[in-house]
Amino acid sequence: MIFKRDRRLTSQAGEIFDILDDHYPEAAIALNFESPLQLLVAIILAAQCTDERVNSVTEGLFRKYPTVKDYAGVKLQELEEDIRSTGFYRNKAKSIKNAAALIVDEFNDKVPDNLDDLVKLPGIGRKSANIILNECFDTPAIGVDTHVLRLSRRLGFSDEKNPDKVEKDLCAVIPSEKWHRVTRVLTLHGKTLCSARKPLCGQCPVEKLCAWRKTESGS
Ligand code: SF4
Repeated sequence: MIFKRDRRLTSQAGEIFDILDDHYPEAAIALNFESPLQLLVAIILAAQCTDERVNSVTEGLFRKYPTVKDYAGVKLQELEEDIRSTGFYRNKAKSIKNAAALIVDEFNDKVPDNLDDLVKLPGIGRKSANIILNECFDTPAIGVDTHVLRLSRRLGFSDEKNPDKVEKDLCAVIPSEKWHRVTRVLTLHGKTLCSARKPLCGQCPVEKLCAWRKTESGS
């Protein structure tokens, strides 16, 4: 079903987001990390894998590979074994090793702090780059994951399906001083109350303002 963006609701986006932000003061990225390099590795591992599994794998991984040169220099097969339980381990190992090699060769051993360079790294797309910028470099940015995309459409913030276009719409309707909270809050809302299959609208703090809910209830 396609939900057309409601202009009145779009103008309420800031208000709707504030209610959700207040509802989830604890909203934070679920991946454990202590540096941009650790977050980059965790994000690559998180594709098609739970945050819990990633965190349990990275606990030992971060101890074994403390520097970017450790990832760049490891034999691919060894890294594959270390991350096997996260699934798609061959592609993930290749991305981590190649991203590390590029960071060593082109970026002086430092994870880049800007979007253009981050998206040059294997395994890092615009969503992941924005999350790294937001969490590590004090650069407010919105990473559009599956939860953010679904919520943006349901709440009437965007009627796009392409994550880059949804990001653009979100940046247009939510004030920039709140961007650093958008991915954290919408992702948590998507994981707790507003799941893809069975949203718990009766418990939702923005039920009366939600475009999707209005369509569902016919009001
Ligand atoms: S009212 Fe329902 S569909 Fe709308 S945001 Fe809340 S849980 Fe999601």
